[in-house]
Amino acid sequence: MGIAAQPTRENRTITVDFRSEATYFRLLGDGKAFLECVLAFVMSLGFQLKHKATCQGGGRLTRHSHDVRVRLGGMSIWRIQCTTCRAVFTVLPHFVWRYRSMHPKVAHDALLATHGGHSLELCAVIEHISPMALYRLICALGHQSLVMVLTRCGLPLPTYGLADEKHSRCLTDKVYLPTVVSGRVLWHLGYTEDASAAAFTRSYQAFQRAASQQDPLYRVRGILTDGFDSTTKRMRTLFP
Ligand SMILES: [Zn+2]
Repeated sequence: MGIAAQPTRENRTITVDFRSEATYFRLLGDGKAFLECVLAFVMSLGFQLKHKATCQGGGRLTRHSHDVRVRLGGMSIWRIQCTTCRAVFTVLPHFVWRYRSMHPKVAHDALLATHGGHSLELCAVIEHISPMALYRLICALGHQSLVMVLTRCGLPLPTYGLADEKHSRCLTDKVYLPTVVSGRVLWHLGYTEDASAAAFTRSYQAFQRAASQQDPLYRVRGILTDGFDSTTKRMRTLFP
């Protein structure tokens, strides 16, 4: 009840590319230059700041206060405020990851090490972070679709792929994992509780939808299957 009545909080965090960490730290000491840099960046993106509903957005922006993130080595994060509606925007420099007290380079190296097969403990020791922080990072990435993560990493969507359903167990039940791979890259990993054509189609549809969101013109040239009629038919319908 209470939850439904709560208005959703607007996300007013903006990530700004300051080119280098040195530039950011230099600008921290100069309020006017800092604001100009942020506004120039926002305008170059053609991006609209989310003011409060009552605000026309014509107001001035001032620097609000700074909030020191102790865990990031005491780095200052500035907020800017609209003088008309008092909406406050948090300005995150490009080298800080929202909600993660971890430098992207550290996250990158720790993830590579985990992916290479090292234990969480060992990866955490290598990168001087806590195993729990690394575990949370992996879970956070797990909530994203593979298509989104991989295309963000710069991988082109696969023109050819291999689709197959693996089975696994969840306690005593048999479950199925529809997968799409291309080369050594896993593009889709679904989860269904039954082996019906409808369930598999729904799962592969999730991949197809995510891929079309990235590129509306995306077309698969060929998908290899294990030759089962139903799989082949499903794929023909989803990827004409
Ligand atoms: Zn405003």
